[in-house]
Amino acid sequence: MFDYQTRDYSGLVHGECYCEQCVQGFLEQFGRPYPGSLHELDAFKNTRATQLSRDVRHLVKGHSEAIAISTYPGDEVDIVRKESNTETCILR
Ligand SMILES: [Zn+2]
Repeated sequence: MFDYQTRDYSGLVHGECYCEQCVQGFLEQFGRPYPGSLHELDAFKNTRATQLSRDVRHLVKGHSEAIAISTYPGDEVDIVRKESNTETCILR
């Protein structure tokens, strides 16, 4: 699953993406200026990340069904990976 990162590895917050594709895509989806409400922004980012995951899967599997997609949890993923030494890593 892809996502929109708003901070770097040091925890420095950079905020939302304001690239042309995000601003225009949001306007097309909601008919309102970007970034809209928090609910709209979350829905926008979820829609875009889901579509990107599907596009990547379609591209990769179009080359070969034997190629595994390894990334973060999501519907289009074959192998789930996690980064070490992050907040979400739990070692037991
Ligand atoms: Zn963007």
